[in-house]
Amino acid sequence: MGMKRLTRQRKAVLEVVRHARGHHPDAAWVFTEVRKTVPSISLGTVYRTLDTLIEEGYLLPLSRPNEALQYEANLDGHLHLICRSCNEFFDIVHPLPDLLSGVKASYPEFEIDRVQVEYQGICPKCRSSAQ
Ligand SMILES: [Zn+2]
Ligand SMILES: [Zn+2]
Repeated sequence: MGMKRLTRQRKAVLEVVRHARGHHPDAAWVFTEVRKTVPSISLGTVYRTLDTLIEEGYLLPLSRPNEALQYEANLDGHLHLICRSCNEFFDIVHPLPDLLSGVKASYPEFEIDRVQVEYQGICPKCRSSAQ
């Protein structure tokens, strides 16, 4: 497997996650989508590529207990609402206090590079289907 092919696959995987609007896909979803443009790609390669893209700073992993990892391509520092019923992540579009600068100032000896804050509850779709 040459470098060119790796690069092409990596681009295809990243594009799929980036175009999953309002959605934070898991590896299985990414695999299904990527195969439309790269039919030869394997699920193992998709997992490894997603890991690499996280290491390189292109994606963020979103994890919940007992659920498949989801991937975030929107790195603007937004927070999430998480539905406990369907486990979907929803982006919070709301002005945020700059938590990172404040906390960094209070803990200068700690090298902080990431903030993860979650708001949990039940999304409108799950609420209406439960009634
Ligand atoms: Zn829900
Ligand atoms: Zn998000």
